[in-house]
Amino acid sequence: MKRTPSGSYDYLIVGAGFAGSVLAERLATQLGKRVMVIDRRPHIAGNAFDHYNEDGVWVHRYGPHIFHTNAQRIVDYLSQFTEWRPYEHRVLAQVNDQQVPIPINLTTLNMLYDLDLDETQAAEFLTSRAEPVENIRTSEDVVVSQVGRELYEMFFRGYTRKQWGLDPSELDKSVTARVPTRTNTDDRYFTDSFQIMPKDGYTALFENLLAHPNITLQLGVDFEAVRDQVDYHHLIYTGPIDEYFGYQLGKLPYRCLRFQHETLNQEVFQPVGVVNYPSEDVPYTRITEYKYLTGQQHPKTSVTYEFPTDQGDPYYPIPRAENTELYRRYRALANATPGVTFLGRLGSYRYYNMDQVVGQALATFEYLAEAHAGDSLA
Ligand code: FAD
Repeated sequence: MKRTPSGSYDYLIVGAGFAGSVLAERLATQLGKRVMVIDRRPHIAGNAFDHYNEDGVWVHRYGPHIFHTNAQRIVDYLSQFTEWRPYEHRVLAQVNDQQVPIPINLTTLNMLYDLDLDETQAAEFLTSRAEPVENIRTSEDVVVSQVGRELYEMFFRGYTRKQWGLDPSELDKSVTARVPTRTNTDDRYFTDSFQIMPKDGYTALFENLLAHPNITLQLGVDFEAVRDQVDYHHLIYTGPIDEYFGYQLGKLPYRCLRFQHETLNQEVFQPVGVVNYPSEDVPYTRITEYKYLTGQQHPKTSVTYEFPTDQGDPYYPIPRAENTELYRRYRALANATPGVTFLGRLGSYRYYNMDQVVGQALATFEYLAEAHAGDSLA
């Protein structure tokens, strides 16, 4: 336990994203714990942060965040902190001079090949294109064996090379376990039973999560700067697990993104929320137009181009066997470190969607609450 004269906390939580903020809320409201939450960024909400830019257009700073889940209990939990608006996400892919629905569906096939297939014929078409691969090892094998080489090259090869900086033939098959293709005209990107966006945005949702008087929030504060100054019993760490241990086993590799935000003097830029650019002729992977996601009416519109890079904030753990192994070794160190709980996408070195992180935080709370009940009985 660390001591300072400034008062003591039951929990110090590093990171005000979904993982840290959900746990802070539960610990404060359910167990009456005193919690300090810090974040090195100048704002709450982690990567889900949204705000009104200088032109008054509502944007997501770290790329499009679309809430979708099949878990009623996650929706029930978050509904205490926000109202919702329905939003079904749609994505088009720019292929040659056409913008076609992705995941590949009946419309995609008819547009690309100038055909008039029905559902049965589309299924037959895909089967006839598939190229059997005897031993499926890589991401390329998965896609080629399901939709054939031509569609693989149109939609997957270039996009994956840009996204990961690796050819699909170098990525494990688990990265693309299944290629979602549809033979009907359903053009929704997700099929989850809940496809909704927080009505007033993610940042407003987080303000409500963190509003409890037992929660003290400090922004623009790095854990390193306060680790020996704040007086706490237990640490919840949602930052990068390798950073916590001073990278002593080596750095866990991440793919990073550079976001180029632009506001345009026109009401609409593109026909849907996201357009993907699979071709390697352009350096970005996709363009997002936020007004589709937020429902905002405004005479201007804001878009974000995403450029994958090796440098910058950690976004996507790189799914390769040697990285999973390195993470396992950090996890062993974490298990041998009493008084600290690691979670969230950076603490778990795992790409999680928001609903999954909320689920992980709620499960961690249950675990801590049981330990707390045990302590009280002791
Ligand atoms: P984060 O939101 O990253 O929060 C961690 C916080 O910890 C950060 O704010 C960071 O500043 C802080 N921190 C780290 N280290 C320290 C330190 N040493 N000291 C102080 N503070 C520290 N999910 C979906 O469900 N739908 C989507 O559409 C979607 N789109 C995405 C798009 C992109 C481009 C990316 C990268 C992710 C997307 N996600 C999406 C995933 C979503 O962002 C994550 O599930 C969610 O942000 C995870 O929450 P978290 O709390 O684990 O991490």
